[in-house]
Amino acid sequence: MVVKSSSPSIVTEETPTARSPLERLLQPVEPVRILTGREQTDGAIVETTGSYPGWLRSGDWRLFAASGCTDPPSGTAFATFTNSRGERLNAFFDDKTRTVTLPFSLEDAFRGYATEAWTNESANRRLPPDMLNLFYRTKRLVPRSAQIAGRRLIIRWQGQPEFPAWPLDLSVSKLLRFYAFCLLLAQGRTDSQFRWFWPESHHAAMILTHDIENESGVRRALAVADLEEELGFRSSFNFGAWYRIDAGLLRELTDRGFEVGIHGLRHDRSLFESRSSFVAGLPRLREFVDELGARGFRSPATYRVHEWLSELPFDYDCSVPHSDPFEPQPGGCCSFWPYFLGPVVELPYTLPQDYTLFTLLRHRSIGLWLEQSERLVRNNGLIQCVTHPDDGYLGDPINRGLYKEFLVAMAERQEIWRALPRDVADWWRERDGGGERVLVGTMRIAERHEDVAFVPPSLATTAPTTSRAPE
Ligand SMILES: [Zn+2]
Repeated sequence: MVVKSSSPSIVTEETPTARSPLERLLQPVEPVRILTGREQTDGAIVETTGSYPGWLRSGDWRLFAASGCTDPPSGTAFATFTNSRGERLNAFFDDKTRTVTLPFSLEDAFRGYATEAWTNESANRRLPPDMLNLFYRTKRLVPRSAQIAGRRLIIRWQGQPEFPAWPLDLSVSKLLRFYAFCLLLAQGRTDSQFRWFWPESHHAAMILTHDIENESGVRRALAVADLEEELGFRSSFNFGAWYRIDAGLLRELTDRGFEVGIHGLRHDRSLFESRSSFVAGLPRLREFVDELGARGFRSPATYRVHEWLSELPFDYDCSVPHSDPFEPQPGGCCSFWPYFLGPVVELPYTLPQDYTLFTLLRHRSIGLWLEQSERLVRNNGLIQCVTHPDDGYLGDPINRGLYKEFLVAMAERQEIWRALPRDVADWWRERDGGGERVLVGTMRIAERHEDVAFVPPSLATTAPTTSRAPE
C-alpha cells in the first residue's frame, strides 16, 4: 500500500483564498479545521493521502483521489471505501476527541470531479486529438444528415458510460453531504448553519442559454426571445465570430433585458488545440468581448482544457457539462452547483442539450427535461438549459413547440430563482463573500452520511430532524 504521510500538519487558513473548493461550495458558517498528516487535534478533520490518484468506491458512490491508510489510535469506522486494488480503507470518528480521520483529501476528491481528472485513468470515449482535428477539417464536407446518422451509430455502439451517470450524476452532492457529515461530527452537533445556495431561500436556480451556430440562428434569435419574454423569461445568446452579427440585434436583445455572451472565434477546437493556440487566441477573444459587451462564454462544442479556463477573459464560463456523454469531448464535472476556477465562475450546464434530446436521441417529448429539472430542484441545484435558435434546432417548429412547452411548465415554479447567467455568477461571488442577500440554511446530520439534509432558510425551524437525501 502506498502511504505518504506528510509530516508537518498544515492548517487550512480561514481566508477566502485559502479555503478549499469544497468549503467554498458548502459555505459553513463555522468551518472546522482540516489537517493533513497523522497529527490529531480535537474537533478537526484529519486527511491522509497517498501519492497516486485512483478510484475509491463506497456503495454506489465513487470518487477519484489519492488514498492513504488510516489507522487512528481509537475511533469507530463510519464509512468504508474500496480502492482499485480491492483494499478497504475506513473513515474513522473518535468521539472523545471529536476527530474525523479520512483516507483521502476532500479537496482532491472535489478537484477530481471538477477538473475531470478521472479522464486520464478511465477508458474514456473521447476521440484522440488527431482524430478530433480530422473530424473538424472534414465536418463541413459531410452532409448534416450523414453526421447525425454517424453519431447515432456511435451512441448505439458505445452505449452509456458507467461514469458520470447520465443525465444526473450525484457524485458531488454525495461528496458535499459527506463533508457536511464529517464537519458535524467534528463539531459534535446534529445541525449547523451554512450560507444557503440561492438568494431569498429559493430552492433552486434556472438559466436559459443559447449558442448561435450560424446566420440562421442570428435571424431566428428574436423569435426565441419573443417566446421567452411572453412567458416571463430572459436568457443569454452566445454569438460566434464566424458570421456577421447585426449591431441592431445586439442592442435590441440587451435593451429587452437579455444577455449577450460569446461562443468563440471559430466553431472548432482551435482555441484549445494547444497551449500556443490558446495564448494566441486570447487577444482576439478580448477584442470580441469588448465589441459585444459580453461577460460569459461557452466554448464551441464544449471543448475545454480545465487548467486554462481560469485564464479566459470572462466573468463566467458555461462550457463544462454536469454530465454529457454525447459531445465530441464527453465527460462532466458531476456538479449541479457553480464553482470557482480561479477568478472565473463555472456554471455547468445540467440539462441535455436540445440537439442531444431532439435530434440524436429522437425524443418527441420534454419528459426528460422536466424530470431532470425536478431532480435538480430537489437537490437545490442549478438548472441550465442549452438550446440553439438555428435551423435544425429550435428553428424547426416542432422543436420550438417542445421548448415552449418546457417554458410553460417551468414558468409557474415560484420556488425556482429565474435569472440570467451573469446574475448567477454575481450571486455566487456574493455568497462566497458573505454579502447582504445571503441567508443561512441548516445542514442536519442523519444516521448515514448520504442522508445529511440541507434545509432552506424558511424551513429551517420546521423541517423534520432527519430526511433522506433526494435522488
Ligand atoms: Zn455551437
